[in-house]
Amino acid sequence: MRKIGMVTSLAATMILAACSGGEKAAGPQEVNLYTARHYDSDQPLYDRFTQETGIKINRIEGRPDELVARMKSEGENSPADLFIAADAGALWRAQEAGLFQPIQSETLNARIPENLREPGGNWYGFSRRARVVAYDAARVKPEEIDDYAKLATPRFKGKICVRSSDSVYNLSLVGALIEAWGPQKAGEWAKGIVANMARAPEGGDRDQIRAVAAGVCEVAITNSYYYIRMASGDDAKDREVTGKVKLAFPSLDGKGAHVNISGGGVAKHAPNKANAIKLLEFFASADSQKHISASNNEYPASPDVQVPPPVDAYTAFTANPMSVAAFAARQPEAQSLMSAAGWR
Ligand code: FE
Repeated sequence: MRKIGMVTSLAATMILAACSGGEKAAGPQEVNLYTARHYDSDQPLYDRFTQETGIKINRIEGRPDELVARMKSEGENSPADLFIAADAGALWRAQEAGLFQPIQSETLNARIPENLREPGGNWYGFSRRARVVAYDAARVKPEEIDDYAKLATPRFKGKICVRSSDSVYNLSLVGALIEAWGPQKAGEWAKGIVANMARAPEGGDRDQIRAVAAGVCEVAITNSYYYIRMASGDDAKDREVTGKVKLAFPSLDGKGAHVNISGGGVAKHAPNKANAIKLLEFFASADSQKHISASNNEYPASPDVQVPPPVDAYTAFTANPMSVAAFAARQPEAQSLMSAAGWR
């Protein structure tokens, strides 16, 4: 988390402390949002929610594991109403820690496809991101990377850049491979990737994309929105990078690219449960999904929400229909397979 997140976090703590003593019925309407999404572009969404509903959002930002630890230690007295994270794996960890309460919402069920929400109603996705491949268009043919399995073949020996195994994005990807292939084959894949690494894992997804442009590697594993942001943002250097480096959407067993979510769930001890549900339904509204897509370059979760520019230029792929809850629950297995493979 950046420094700005800490400041916000402290300020929010003070606001929460100030509010927690008051009579709920008499006090102003509010909702306490614990969020691991750290995008400035979410702010207009919060403002609009408050404008439309009169409900004030008290926001606490942190890394997912920090927020989970905090909610655990706060226990029954936790002021948390809604927990939001940018990966199904992080939501699953919160669920495992007993921090959610299942909710029933016809609105959410109608807006969010079944495979993008937890079957018990513990958490719901509201935007999608694909974990895919950026490649050097001068050296790699698209058909060489049309399947995740191909990345682990000797063709790419010394040619792959990828971040470390403690990235929840990678854990979720390997979780999906375990779900599709079983642990044996997924473990072999992880070993193949380690054998093919151009360098020891370092940096985030954008650093891997830049390393492809710099000739360090030929392919990089990345979340789609990082690439789309580089290709369509204001940074001339990044746009130069994406002139050479292209984005491909490998398939898993011919069923499409691995897709993850941003999403959230209602906290077990939410003091403002009804407001938490309202806020989650708000994130899942067509307008919010469109905003998140346009500003953070994720994909809308609902198939009936039109994909806005610049993301609409990157929609020519099949999304794997695998349940996000299924691969999210494979986190511990993924972690041990990756450690065993020597994936740092
Ligand atoms: Fe990210």
